[in-house]
Amino acid sequence: MAPSPALRCCKRALNWVPVLFINLVVGWSYYAYVVELCVYTIPNNAERISYLVIFHIAFAMFIWAYWKTIWSTPTSPSKAFGLPRQEKELYEREERAEAQQEILKKVARNLPVYTRTAGGAIRYCNYCQVIKPDRCHHCSTCEMCVLKMDHHCPWVNNCVGFSNYKYFVLFLAYASLYCVVICATVIRYFIKFWTKQLPDTHAKFHILFLFFVAALFFISIVSLLTYHLWLVGKNRTTIEAFRAPVFANGPDKNGFSLGFGRNVAEVFGDQAKYWILPVFSSLGDGHSFVTRLVHIDPEQANSVLQQNGKSPADGEINPCVLGNNVQHTEDDGKEKTDGGQIVSVTMENEP
Ligand SMILES: [Zn+2]
Ligand SMILES: [Zn+2]
Repeated sequence: MAPSPALRCCKRALNWVPVLFINLVVGWSYYAYVVELCVYTIPNNAERISYLVIFHIAFAMFIWAYWKTIWSTPTSPSKAFGLPRQEKELYEREERAEAQQEILKKVARNLPVYTRTAGGAIRYCNYCQVIKPDRCHHCSTCEMCVLKMDHHCPWVNNCVGFSNYKYFVLFLAYASLYCVVICATVIRYFIKFWTKQLPDTHAKFHILFLFFVAALFFISIVSLLTYHLWLVGKNRTTIEAFRAPVFANGPDKNGFSLGFGRNVAEVFGDQAKYWILPVFSSLGDGHSFVTRLVHIDPEQANSVLQQNGKSPADGEINPCVLGNNVQHTEDDGKEKTDGGQIVSVTMENEP
């Protein structure tokens, strides 16, 4: 039975509790650093000003990335991934799973969809009534299908996916930097209070606690950051790290990996000036992904195969360009021509 509107409202409000907790900790850390450390404890102006400048740069970047991670609306599949009216009616009327699959297969032929369920079926979301694009998953908390879904993060009360994955990684990086700045500058006064070189004041409690909290957060955030940087390098989402995406020829955990440089560019973009800023610079549209395809489903009737006339080098895997990303198609054509056969699949129906 579906939960009542009041219960849903209550659940939605409760989902903000972890965000509120983080905001309270960050708000207190700001007060403890700026007022208790810089205003009341640090004796000379030069040190005070330099600490305040460094602290505010780290603080601003951290809050900017955090804000963008929280408020970026997760992207759902475009209308092109829904069933056309006639097929939808047929699908709903049909009771046999095999016949339903045939309907889905027919529609999916016109879409850049290359991943399947573990059983080899077309991935369809009954809740959103869409054929799931590659790397898209349904989030039960957000109650929607999310493009390139990584995970649902309670600390930002949002889905981390195609629209905000770069912001999320930067949020972890700047949160680590914020903690490092606090620990590195507070430690001197932490030791002075600890060894009683400074008298017991109200600042003592804040400064001792500030160091412990920042160190604790740093350890947990930096381990998560390391894991996500590894995922970026491998071009995997958290979901794919636990369960390899299944292609027509079986599961392949490296199915979307195009080499370290291009994997990083897919998330951070190809212009270095945007890498450290929480502005959108990820490549692609989130619906289709460049993949090293080792087998092309012969049923993909609309696939137009273009070959550059060379045969692939031994043991080399052909890169394949999928879907409606013309930018990718052109880029790839240039970069992958050495020694390899180019297989590009262009779609008739661009969503
Ligand atoms: Zn869904
Ligand atoms: Zn979600």
